[in-house]
Amino acid sequence: MKLPPFAMHRPSSVSEATKYLREFGDGGVVYCGGTELLLVMKLGLSDFDHLVDIKRIPGLGTISVTGETLRIGATATHREIETNREITQRWPGLAAMTRQVANVRVRNVGTLGGNLAFADPASDPATFLLASDALIDIRNADGELRQVPISEFHIGAYQTVLGESELIEAILVPEPAAGTTVVHERIRFHERPAVTVTVAGTVREGTIIDVKIAVGSVGSVPIRIVEAEARLRGIEQGSLESALRDTTEAVEATVEPVEDLNGSVEYKRHLAGVLAGRAAGQCLRQAFDAGVGL
Ligand SMILES: Cc1cc2nc3c(=O)[nH]c(=O)nc-3n(C[C@H](O)[C@H](O)[C@H](O)COP(=O)(O)OP(=O)(O)OC[C@H]3O[C@@H](n4cnc5c(N)ncnc54)[C@H](O)[C@@H]3O)c2cc1C
Repeated sequence: MKLPPFAMHRPSSVSEATKYLREFGDGGVVYCGGTELLLVMKLGLSDFDHLVDIKRIPGLGTISVTGETLRIGATATHREIETNREITQRWPGLAAMTRQVANVRVRNVGTLGGNLAFADPASDPATFLLASDALIDIRNADGELRQVPISEFHIGAYQTVLGESELIEAILVPEPAAGTTVVHERIRFHERPAVTVTVAGTVREGTIIDVKIAVGSVGSVPIRIVEAEARLRGIEQGSLESALRDTTEAVEATVEPVEDLNGSVEYKRHLAGVLAGRAAGQCLRQAFDAGVGL
């Protein structure tokens, strides 16, 4: 496996980076941690004459909190996210999910922006952020910023709404409401996950008032299981176990698995249902316990 020749460009601002992308068109590409890009180039799956290295742009990897919103700069690595003190305290579910991504070597160089932009269907963060109602800040070469909900960002396997001269500038994650528990579960047979499930459940006065269930890595993009969410809302603790059987059924009926090395369509459908039922149970039992007194 040998890398084809290319020119490396090191812009010092987002504006300079997007202008390079506009100038190079199809021949140029954003380069960040390189954990995906260099691999696909080595395998000959894609070929670019110009790599625009954004990881040295000052401030582009900054992690900050304003009020109840966490802002993760696109070039922040998984490792920086999982070890950030504010994230471990106020977004513990995000830190716990990030610790499950790949291995520490990949997490040390791989970035959240790169994970989302590459749009590999087998993504932990994409599933987690869908259940978190995250927003993506996208900047173009005219300096314009547009904000896209994560639910609209991935449009197919390895496909996003990013235009040719656009890059992800930041990922915005709202703080979970009081009484919310977030659980991320995955099943993995090879390097990448075969199924990922995130459940965010909010309990007040002994009743589930909100629940979000996202299932990813089985089909081409992660999806919310809105039917299962609706059936769980309003449930009290005594009815939880029977409601969880409906969750498994709703997930199996909704996912659209793609057959691959992880298994057949039917097998992946079954895995998704079982994992979602398990994650929802774990999340909501914890939320009921934590919600006592709320
Ligand atoms: C061995 C291995 C195991 C892995 N396991 C997991 C796993 O368990 N779970 C999981 O979720 N992921 C997993 N991954 C994926 C990993 O999370 C990604 O490789 C990493 O986050 C990509 O970030 P990067 O900075 O290296 O991206 P790069 O390789 O630099 O870029 C990837 C793509 O995104 C584009 N890009 C990068 N940044 C931006 C930006 N800001 N704006 C627009 N486009 C951009 C690039 O042009 C390129 O097309 C694994 C990867 C490897 C190699």
